[in-house]
Amino acid sequence: MTLPTHMCALHLTDPDVAEIREVPVPTPAADQVLLKVGAAGICHSDLHLLHFPYKVREEPLTMGHEIAGTVVAVGSAVTDVPVGRRCAVYLCWSCGVCRECVSGNENVCLAAGRTAMPPCPGLGPDGGMAEYVAVPARSVVDLGDLPFTQAAPIADAGLTSMHAIAGVADHLRPGATARMVGLGGGVPGVSAEPAGDPGWPWGGSIRKSYGGTRRDLIDVIALARAGKVTAAVETFLLAQARPAFERLDAVRSEGGVLLP
Ligand SMILES: [Zn+2]
Ligand SMILES: [Zn+2]
Repeated sequence: MTLPTHMCALHLTDPDVAEIREVPVPTPAADQVLLKVGAAGICHSDLHLLHFPYKVREEPLTMGHEIAGTVVAVGSAVTDVPVGRRCAVYLCWSCGVCRECVSGNENVCLAAGRTAMPPCPGLGPDGGMAEYVAVPARSVVDLGDLPFTQAAPIADAGLTSMHAIAGVADHLRPGATARMVGLGGGVPGVSAEPAGDPGWPWGGSIRKSYGGTRRDLIDVIALARAGKVTAAVETFLLAQARPAFERLDAVRSEGGVLLP
């Protein structure tokens, strides 16, 4: 397959300045694969990034952390991801070798620090609001026949929700766990009073939840393929990225995906 030399990408250059630019198609590093993007989701993290009052990084950033696409090329050291595989991108690009990563908890990678986030496409490395994106080979998760427009939001919104409930299903009674989910902030309104509102149970605990594990992504994709999870989306062409952001910002759309 002959790849083009250039592509369109949504570049964030300055606070509130994001525009479609023609840029070179990335070359995958030895441990990366190149995806032809099938769809890229927009969520409120993107709005937060767009409106962030400082430059996110000095050089322009390709936005997009909810990515689904098809492998079109692989790096020289990649032997286990075939060209043609349809996949979602696991967004925690963690170290893979620390105690938490090897335990499967890559969303709380120790290399990132106690409160920082592991590297995430579209928030540090270039993301998927483009025609092509290079991603670590270990980040891709098989999609089967799940449509890209469903898979893209599931790569974050589905993953984050799945992680928030997975592992505490046997806790919903005394010994309960409350989870503060995602990047929205907030203060939990709990009391240690022995009785009365807000009715915090004995043995209860609070967890601060970011993203999810690779297993969570595999599990939520399986639910989506079985028709048990469906993302409500509006679709926009990549060239309509700014109107899509404005719609999400103004009318609180349920969610959206960009099609390259
Ligand atoms: Zn998101
Ligand atoms: Zn790690």
